[in-house]
Amino acid sequence: AEQQQWSAVDDYLGGLLAPEDPVLAAALRAGDEAGLPHINVSALQGKLLNLLARAVQARSVLEVGTLAGYSTIWLGRALPADGRLITLEAEPKHAEVARGNLARAGLDGIAEVRLGLALDTLPELVGESFDLVFIDADKANIPEYFRWALVLTRPGGLVIVDNVVRGGEVADEHSSEPAVRGVRRLHELLASEPRAAATTIQTVGVKGYDGFTLAVVLPPGK
Ligand code: SAM
Repeated sequence: AEQQQWSAVDDYLGGLLAPEDPVLAAALRAGDEAGLPHINVSALQGKLLNLLARAVQARSVLEVGTLAGYSTIWLGRALPADGRLITLEAEPKHAEVARGNLARAGLDGIAEVRLGLALDTLPELVGESFDLVFIDADKANIPEYFRWALVLTRPGGLVIVDNVVRGGEVADEHSSEPAVRGVRRLHELLASEPRAAATTIQTVGVKGYDGFTLAVVLPPGK
């Protein structure tokens, strides 16, 4: 019953604030038809990513975990025409579907899908500086991805991590689930990380009960 209400509210608010346009609908359909799982962000969450990118006046965005490129489209739409978005994806099929979706969205000049395990492709980005990093891949490696994000984000830039509450399991210190251990390690790392100021917000909606972490990367010595 609770889930029904969360979904009804998401449908109502999403219909007004993040209505589905043909490009986003086609992106979801292409993912569907290729048999990709339904684990993209919701429309309202996509809009939040878009607004956060605009708020930091992002010109360069890094995404870890592309799937069909749904969140990538929301992020890419926040960038200026000469902006840049790199999105990392391990599954060849996902990368292929995403490339098609990004081309249909008119973002193929801005967004580049890099195929490979993120822990292999992240080191290739050393020397680059991103205004915003969105972490949404395998959850066990979240702490490692966050460490890379600290290296790759400009001071004042924003790091967003998805699925960090996990139906409340983040508070279970005895959990042996790799994803839960990953999000717990993220928060332990954040508690003693002088290079970032962070908070985590719990959320409900079509995707159930979860949450995201927001971290601002601080200039050295701040
Ligand atoms: N951000 C997408 C969206 O909201 O539309 C959803 C991403 S989905 C939750 C996670 C993606 O990360 C999947 O496509 C999966 O194949 C990819 N992935 C999993 N492990 C990975 C790894 N080690 N390196 C890169 N990508 C990985």
